[in-house]
Amino acid sequence: MAHATALIFHDIYRGRGFSPLQTSWNRYSLGYDLMASLGLFDNGVAVLRPTPATEAELRLAHTPEYIAEVRQADSRGEGFLDRRDTPAWRGVFERATTAVGGTLLAAHSIMAGDMTHAFNPAGGLHHAQADRASGFCIFNDLVIATRVLQRDFGLTRIATIDIDGHHGDGVQALLYDEPVLKISFHQYDGRFYPGTGAVDELGTSAGHGYSVNVPLPRRVGDASYLAAFDALVPPLLYSYRPQFILVQFGVDAHVSDPLVGLWLTTAAYQRLVERLHELAHDLCDGRLLFLGGGGYNPPTVARCWAILVATLSGALPTASRDQYAALFDQETPTEAEVTAEQVRAVVAEVQSRLLAVGWRIPSWRPAPPPSPNNPGHVG
Ligand SMILES: [Zn+2]
Ligand SMILES: [Zn+2]
Repeated sequence: MAHATALIFHDIYRGRGFSPLQTSWNRYSLGYDLMASLGLFDNGVAVLRPTPATEAELRLAHTPEYIAEVRQADSRGEGFLDRRDTPAWRGVFERATTAVGGTLLAAHSIMAGDMTHAFNPAGGLHHAQADRASGFCIFNDLVIATRVLQRDFGLTRIATIDIDGHHGDGVQALLYDEPVLKISFHQYDGRFYPGTGAVDELGTSAGHGYSVNVPLPRRVGDASYLAAFDALVPPLLYSYRPQFILVQFGVDAHVSDPLVGLWLTTAAYQRLVERLHELAHDLCDGRLLFLGGGGYNPPTVARCWAILVATLSGALPTASRDQYAALFDQETPTEAEVTAEQVRAVVAEVQSRLLAVGWRIPSWRPAPPPSPNNPGHVG
């Protein structure tokens, strides 16, 4: 069945991006063109063009001083917005506010019932803090959208699922003391950027137990990642009963990404989208908003985004089936059993902390490891 799905897109997305990695700036153009070539836009996916977020909207998450600093850096046209990750340039303010405006347009379209699902590839700027830029993120569209959903629509149960390879530290920090469910899966060793996202970061006061961190070792691969996701996300969402689900769909956990080493494939991304899609329809009338986040290998990013939009919308023309099948990785990296054991231990630790703060979640039973005599999965 086809579900009304919007791609949020503005020509400004085709230009310079926030990272200094110039080779990653064309991911928006590649993604858009790939979706167009699959026929998604002729078959029901609406393309909506955002306007920049207003100063008042930015202030829902950021200090007036910081907003003024970004404006000044824009007119200066050089230097960095943080220590040395996120460059300033002439036009960066409009680019950053348009990214936020895209996420707000998506949220409004879903709440108005015009769209069931939406994807803003320029959103997902989860590292941005109240008073500073960080990690290629200037304004935190996830938090601003959360504020708009609370204030303008009266929502009290909003869930953010963050599958970017990096911890969603800005979202966590800005909503740390609120009962807004934040689940982040990320590579973690205590040093890997941004350095936060340990299991004991659970939130404070009314937010205690609503920051859920799943810190993963390198080279996790599809099977362990998906097992961890299924062990935690569906039970938490069924307990929380969200009214709206935001997904930070950073695809830098893909095996080809130059910055992250989690080793997921396109098949895992499709499974994650299918699972989140089912959960959104089960729990909140399908209200599901995907945001682009990280991803630094543009052809791979474009493939993951096309898989996302085709899966969500059901808008893939029959004639494009072969072209769609070609979007998937041909090889799956093999994961080491030691990594699988580490992931099971992380999940068990997350679960025990969730149970201790009062979540009702069923216990997780890992599938038996495959062996020559026990292939694990038959048929
Ligand atoms: Zn749907
Ligand atoms: Zn990332």
